[in-house]
Amino acid sequence: MARAKNLTLCSFCGKTHAEVKKLVSGPGVYICDSCVDTFKKVLDKELASERTKSVPDLKVPLPTKISEALDEHCIGQEQAKKTLAVAVHNHYKRILNEKREAAAKDSHDEVEIEKTNIMLVGSTGSGKTLLARTLARVLDVPFAIADATTLTEAGYVGEDVENIILRLLQNADYDVKRAEMGIIYIDEIDKITRRTENVSITRDVSGEGVQQALLKILEGTICNVPPQGGRKHPQQEYIRVDTRNVLFICGGAFVDLEKIVLRRLGNHVLGFGAVEQTHREGVLEKRDILRHVEPEDFLSFGFIPEFIGRLPMITVLDELTEEQLVSILTDTKSSLTKQFKKLLAIDGVELDFTKEALHELARQAISKGTGARALRGLMEKVMLDWMYEIPGNNDIEAIKITLPAISGKGKPIIRRKTKKAAA
Ligand code: ADP
Repeated sequence: MARAKNLTLCSFCGKTHAEVKKLVSGPGVYICDSCVDTFKKVLDKELASERTKSVPDLKVPLPTKISEALDEHCIGQEQAKKTLAVAVHNHYKRILNEKREAAAKDSHDEVEIEKTNIMLVGSTGSGKTLLARTLARVLDVPFAIADATTLTEAGYVGEDVENIILRLLQNADYDVKRAEMGIIYIDEIDKITRRTENVSITRDVSGEGVQQALLKILEGTICNVPPQGGRKHPQQEYIRVDTRNVLFICGGAFVDLEKIVLRRLGNHVLGFGAVEQTHREGVLEKRDILRHVEPEDFLSFGFIPEFIGRLPMITVLDELTEEQLVSILTDTKSSLTKQFKKLLAIDGVELDFTKEALHELARQAISKGTGARALRGLMEKVMLDWMYEIPGNNDIEAIKITLPAISGKGKPIIRRKTKKAAA
């Protein structure tokens, strides 16, 4: 049947007004919602591949600037900040230099600067992840976190190491070139040693196998990443990602590593008995001992030499002191007290903490043994009643959290509005 002449049709697919949801008109043309949808998909795809082809800009801040930026978010850990700042600066300088040389094509320089992945040793909640994350933010490069305990050798139940790269790729919006300059933080690296068996329900996968699998991506390889994640299968299409310039930061608590260091130091330097005794007497602090950590101590801990060889920069984070925990509560850019103050300010309520209250919070966090990680939970608990009561309550003007309010022996000081002000 012929269509009526005055019928409006989509100029691209020819469907009538009645056959589509929406028909948009332009000068002399019409387009339907389904064509708009299709064209958008095509455009998105093309733009994405354009981005992949482009080489991303890379800023390489000075080590001092990197360290200053870390200071805004991370309290203490001066030595770690300095080490990281230098390592990261050199890493990206090396990449830029490589690009420059490749562009000039006339460089016959034989010197090849090797990549320096980093090992962070520090107890839970001392800021390892925070430092790695902040570094990625300062450098404006993609960042991904992986948990070493979920990894398995290829072929076993668990996560393939390629999935770590996939996460980085996803965080780079599938921009391969950007992902190839990203930073990956691998947490709980101390759990994949030879002596600790990886927790797998279906079979035992030794830590050594996982180290071998990680070794490849750490030193740099072309990784075939399944874009949808999950297990690999032969018919799948892969995205190829080169990990040569990806910076790996591995972190772990390394419980009892100091004993290994102490044994070595004792044997070689000071006379074992004397060192052990000073340690027992508390004269030699854990961090003083760990300052002497050497790659060979990690071998005794259960790592294979090739793996440790790929993490040449080792840095130790200190346990956070009460003073530093108070500082974390108040001084960092988005500290917990600032966050809660902002939340209550939205309801027009002023929030304050006494110094003693903050110190009590810090002491409670220390007793939990999870460093700064405990602070949020403690704070949420203290604030719960008030976060429940204040929204919708027109009566409260200000609230001051005191020591008794933290220790559960009393309530915070509340200032109420005068009748007139409340009305
Ligand atoms: P881990 O060492 O276990 O990786 P995280 O970096 O995940 O510890 O720390 C957990 C949380 O504790 C962080 O999100 C951060 O808010 C806080 N935190 C830990 N260490 C510090 C620090 N040195 N300075 C400021 N905040 C810290």
